[in-house]
Amino acid sequence: MRIDIDGSMLEGGGQILRLSIALSAVSGVPLRIYNIRAKRSNPGLRPQHLTAIKAVAELVGAKVEGLRVGSRELIFTPGRPRGGRFYFDVGTAGATTLVLQSLLPASAFSPKRVMVEVKGGTNNPMAPPIDYVQRLLLPILAKMNYHCQVSLLRRGFYPRGGGVVRAVMEPVDKLRTISMLKPGKVVKITGIAYSCKLPGHIVERMAKSAEKALTEAGYGDVEIEHEVLQPEHPKCSLDPGCGILLRAETNEGALLGADSLGERGKPAEKVGLEAAQSLIKQLSSGASIDRYMGDQLIVYMALADGKSEVRVSELTLHALTCMEVVKILLGVTVEVEGGLGKTSNILCRGVGLRRKMEES
Ligand code: ATP
Repeated sequence: MRIDIDGSMLEGGGQILRLSIALSAVSGVPLRIYNIRAKRSNPGLRPQHLTAIKAVAELVGAKVEGLRVGSRELIFTPGRPRGGRFYFDVGTAGATTLVLQSLLPASAFSPKRVMVEVKGGTNNPMAPPIDYVQRLLLPILAKMNYHCQVSLLRRGFYPRGGGVVRAVMEPVDKLRTISMLKPGKVVKITGIAYSCKLPGHIVERMAKSAEKALTEAGYGDVEIEHEVLQPEHPKCSLDPGCGILLRAETNEGALLGADSLGERGKPAEKVGLEAAQSLIKQLSSGASIDRYMGDQLIVYMALADGKSEVRVSELTLHALTCMEVVKILLGVTVEVEGGLGKTSNILCRGVGLRRKMEES
């Protein structure tokens, strides 16, 4: 039976779409999504969403109606997940990481390894930086027994994008539950300060200002990698850009990230300081995952085999939206101890989806 999803609920943005499509792909349940991105000033599908849907459709041989930029309604009828190699191009600077946000869960139960290359932006505002996917999301998914590798072949910034990421997903028979409630003591803060087509002092200054703020806040062991890319380097983007990502890990296995992107006219010191202040604030909340992981993990918790629990630094509307979508599509219950905007525990009893192997 087909399930209808109202794309205007709660956050009313692109995430409802990415998540619903991924869940339809793994569960085999057909889907109609209407009011797509109704709460945005440019409603309907944008190139980044379109690419995510096309990508998942190709992965599971789905039939899709309404697949064009601007479309506000979509009917997605999934086929069977499969493995193999795929290539997708967002065609703009739209975030490759948001395409991965659909592809990673959609590939989790494929009968064979999935390899994808996605072209577009790698470090965009309002999306996970590729460095976040590599250093925060994948290590947490590995705890759930889902092992993926994401390599950055070329950075891509606004306006032209052109970045390339390669992801290799090793499917699972079932996802292990996760328990990340205890914050613990910070043992190390690592990170990366990166720039393309900009003078080397920018990276130095971003990293130094982040280190200074973290040290002043009492975090002793801070190690930030420097990556300065100029056009002769194959990983260098088409357009100039820079940013910093920080990652804190604790003796209880908590993992929190914070980042900031450079902008024309924004001093490098401010970029570094913003990321550090965000990390310090989230650490002081006593959480074990950051505010962005709060929404990104829900799909995996909902699919895992049993009860998962995490403590998030701030419960966002994005997270509440994901909870609603998994409730509708999988029938799982998600409980929250806390509330919107607060440090909260998210408890979810997953459906324990199992991989079906191809009939030989
Ligand atoms: P729209 O809302 O315009 O449709 P969209 O489809 O581009 O936008 P959202 O639905 O807002 O995107 O989802 C953004 C996703 O990116 C969320 O999962 C959020 O957690 C994640 N995200 C945003 N900023 C960061 C960040 N700085 N670090 C990590 N993840 C981030």
